[in-house]
Amino acid sequence: MAVSRRALLKGGFTVTAMTALGATAAPIAVGEVKAAARPRIYTCAEWDARPASGTVTVLNRKPTYIVVHHTAGGNSSDLSLAHAFEISRSIQDFHMDGRGWLDSGQQLTNSRGGHVTEGRHRSVEVLDRGTRHVQGAHVADHNSEAIGIENEGLYSSVDVTPQLWDSLVRLVAYIAQQYGISPSNIRGHRDFNATECPGTVLYGRLGELRDEVAAILGVAPVAAQRSWPLLKPGDESTKVLAAQHLLRDRDLDVKADGVFGASTFAAVRALAGANKVAYEPCYASHTADESGFVGVTTWPLLVRDVRAGDTGEAAKAAQVLMSARGLRYATVDTRTWQDLLA
Ligand SMILES: [Zn+2]
Repeated sequence: MAVSRRALLKGGFTVTAMTALGATAAPIAVGEVKAAARPRIYTCAEWDARPASGTVTVLNRKPTYIVVHHTAGGNSSDLSLAHAFEISRSIQDFHMDGRGWLDSGQQLTNSRGGHVTEGRHRSVEVLDRGTRHVQGAHVADHNSEAIGIENEGLYSSVDVTPQLWDSLVRLVAYIAQQYGISPSNIRGHRDFNATECPGTVLYGRLGELRDEVAAILGVAPVAAQRSWPLLKPGDESTKVLAAQHLLRDRDLDVKADGVFGASTFAAVRALAGANKVAYEPCYASHTADESGFVGVTTWPLLVRDVRAGDTGEAAKAAQVLMSARGLRYATVDTRTWQDLLA
C-alpha cells in the first residue's frame, strides 16, 4: 500500500484524546462522610512481589480518573486467594521482564474470586493517604492522571464473576472517596486508547458501576458518557463502512464494503503511526494485535465537518450513517459525528 505521510496528515489533525472524553466533572465533596469502607487489599509483601527495579514515582497530585481494565487472560475458575497472588506475580513478571518496566504497570489488581492485590509498589499506602498518585503504566498518554485496576479475565463476550463485580464496586468506591473523584470519571481503558480493553461486556457495565459507586458515596447519579465506538477486525456494520469512507478521505487504500478486514486494519495502523498515536497493549492482550483498531484516538483523526451538498468520501461517510438512522443534518460537526456513531 502506497501511502504518503503527507496524505495521512492531511487536515492537520492532532491527537486530542481529551476532546473525546468530554468535560471533567468537578470533584465530589469528601472528608465529611466516609461512606465507602476500605476493602481488604493484599500488599506486594503479602503476595511476595519482586522488588521494583527502580524508584516508583509518586506524583504530588491526586489522580483524575479511575480506569477499569481486563487482563485479557484466561477466565479461570480458580477463585482462591492463592490464585489471585499467582496472577499478581505473573503480571509483574511480564511487565518487568517482557515490557522492561520497573514494576507492575497497574496500581491494583482484582481477581475473579474478588481478591484485591496491590500492583505497583507503594500504591496502597499512597491510596490510603488520599493526597498523591503513584504513577503507573497502564493507559498510554494518561498515566500521570489515571489510577488503574486490572481485572482478571477476558470480557469481550462473557460477563465477570459476581465476586469480581462486588469487589470492583467496593474498590472503586473507596478510591473515589479517597481522592474525591466524581463517578463520572470512572472510565474504561478504551476511553483513552484504541483498545478492546476492558472488553465489550465489562465496558457496557461501566454505567452500572458509576451508579453503584454514586449510591455508596451518596452523590447524584451520572449522565451517560459521550464516547467514540470501538471497531475491530471481523466487525461488519454501517459504522465500519463510514470509517472506511473516512479512511479513503485521508487517501488510504481501503475498499468501502462495510467489512473490517486486513486492509482496513493496515490503513488504521498506518494512520495511527503517522500521527504518532501512542499504542500500549494491556497485559496479555499482546497476544492480539490491536494496533489497527478504530477507537477513541482514531475517530478524531478521521472525522471532519461536512455540510449539505458536499461530495467526496467524508460526505459519503456522513450519508451512510444518516441514512441508517433516518436522520438528516445540514452540518455534521464533531458532536454530530459522535451522535451518529453512538
Ligand atoms: Zn487496559
